[in-house]
Amino acid sequence: MAAEQLAAEGCAVTVVEHMPSVGRKFLLAGRSGLNLTHSEPTPDLVARYGDSAARLAPAIAAFDTAALRAWAAGLGEPTFVGSSGRVFPESFRATPLFRSWMARLDGLGVTIRTGVRWTGFEKVDAGIGVRLVEQGVEETAAADAVVLALGGASWPKVGSDGAWVEILSAAGVTVSDLHPANCGFALDWTPAFVERFAGAPLKNVALTFGDRTVRGEGVVTESGVESGVFYALGAAIRDAIEADGTATVYLDLHPDVDVAGVAARLARRRAKETWSTSLRRAGLALVAVSLLREVTGNRLPADIGELAALVKDVPLTLVGTESLARSISTAGGVAWDEVDEQFMLRRMPGVFVVGEMLDWEAPTGGYLLQATFSTAVAAARGVLDWLGERNP
Ligand SMILES: Cc1cc2nc3c(=O)[nH]c(=O)nc-3n(C[C@H](O)[C@H](O)[C@H](O)COP(=O)(O)OP(=O)(O)OC[C@H]3O[C@@H](n4cnc5c(N)ncnc54)[C@H](O)[C@@H]3O)c2cc1C
Repeated sequence: MAAEQLAAEGCAVTVVEHMPSVGRKFLLAGRSGLNLTHSEPTPDLVARYGDSAARLAPAIAAFDTAALRAWAAGLGEPTFVGSSGRVFPESFRATPLFRSWMARLDGLGVTIRTGVRWTGFEKVDAGIGVRLVEQGVEETAAADAVVLALGGASWPKVGSDGAWVEILSAAGVTVSDLHPANCGFALDWTPAFVERFAGAPLKNVALTFGDRTVRGEGVVTESGVESGVFYALGAAIRDAIEADGTATVYLDLHPDVDVAGVAARLARRRAKETWSTSLRRAGLALVAVSLLREVTGNRLPADIGELAALVKDVPLTLVGTESLARSISTAGGVAWDEVDEQFMLRRMPGVFVVGEMLDWEAPTGGYLLQATFSTAVAAARGVLDWLGERNP
């Protein structure tokens, strides 16, 4: 995105990518529909970035949801708003958008060098010395400005491996520790439960952790839980597990009906009916009924009131956070104090940092790509200002 903006303004741009092709994570994101952004009003959207909201707000205001949707439409991929307010390309895929984007870059004269790794900076007579390695051969290229868009450290097999942390840290840049974000959590399921329900969706549930409750879906995994509601409260859950070793969350399996309502449904129990059947008739999915058996060691409360209360408040003790390599995104990164308003490194004038490398996190819902694109546009603007100041 930064390359596109700069090339459109007449800059000679080279993109350096160490993988055999560019955009692998973007294309991976496309496998689940490519949730480009979220349709909620900008102030609500910005609030999703928590502590980083104030630092990201100007960039998001300058390249907002509408701008991102217009950009996609301009590439022949109009977008639509899904029922949850999330924005997707109409094709529900990344590939067509990506192809036409790459054709645009080509038309703008952007040079893309794949299989070339950035390994740091070096002093040169004029400009910024960029150290590159291609098939073991080192070279130093001189640039007037550099935009680092090296990603976080999740899914390293598609490219972003976080190796930049060491390079920038060694250069004196403060980098907050990288942590998994939008990741699964470990839970000690019994083998029988995993065998039957790994991969099963927990539909229409509410999850409470601390004083926050969110509605949505979750998924049972072989090692625990992941997705929707677990991602939405994931940052607080992760921090609690890091501090205390475990975190107990509470799942409401029937969020549309209160405890009395669930009890009333269970009271319609027929003679000789098993509790499982009664719970199914009360509106619970098979996985939800089995979850109740799982957390009670197969000893469901005999009292209807107690059982109804359990349906509304299933305790799950999460005992670990899935690895960074398997998480959707990365928390931590280049500290905010290290960059100016246009994301230029204060210690390295002319070098800008964008996307997941910066120290922000957000839930899934299109917020990750929105902030990535917005920071890239802002940094491109910053590059132009920087070049303009030096060569008025
Ligand atoms: C499975 C999955 C699904 C996702 N779905 C969504 C979604 O639907 N919506 C959403 O908003 N977000 C989604 N995301 C998150 C989103 O893809 C990322 O937030 C976004 O791609 C971050 O962009 P970035 O440019 O900062 O980093 P990246 O997209 O990771 O790009 C960084 C690039 O830099 C390259 N690189 C790294 N180090 C070097 C080096 N030293 N030299 C040269 N090249 C280097 C990497 O190979 C990579 O191509 C998803 C993520 C995953 C893993």
